[in-house]
Amino acid sequence: MHFINQMRLEFLSIPANVAFARVAVAAFASQLDFTLEDLEEIKTAVSEAVSNSIIHGYEHEPDRLVTVYAALTLDTLEIRVEDDGKGIIDIDRALQPAFSTDAERLGLGFVFMQSFMENFRVESTPGRGTTVIMSKSTGGSMARANEAT
Ligand code: ATP
Ligand code: MG
Repeated sequence: MHFINQMRLEFLSIPANVAFARVAVAAFASQLDFTLEDLEEIKTAVSEAVSNSIIHGYEHEPDRLVTVYAALTLDTLEIRVEDDGKGIIDIDRALQPAFSTDAERLGLGFVFMQSFMENFRVESTPGRGTTVIMSKSTGGSMARANEAT
């Protein structure tokens, strides 16, 4: 994979930084010719991953760090969202639609990330932390539209 640009953001685990991260990644991604719809999907995926780190990984502790790494090839954005929080015991279960460890939540964050992004995967070690890795190609939505016909 030949990256033409890379960036890394590290910020405190407070809700204000969800908006910061989504806008920063979208601005970085705009170097490629993503559609506005693609950029909205990227923003949603980043928001969901960063929110999960703050809410579940760090259980709202405000003084921890979330790292977002993004890289570009000529046609693909790759994103990693990392925390060193509590981790996920059963990843397959966590990825199921409508599964949440919090009764107040819908359990749809991972569903959005998976449907909006490509090559989605989660790495997690209980007690050590969680990394969400996902990518999106500029041709992605066109390829999906062609598949559908
Ligand atoms: P919603 O995203 O709809 O508000 P949710 O956050 O519970 O609800 P998902 O984002 O799909 O739903 O996450 C599913 C579950 O995976 C969470 O309830 C939580 O138990 C676990 N999880 C997700 N991300 C992390 C993380 N970074 N650290 C620890 N646990 C996580
Ligand atoms: Mg969530």
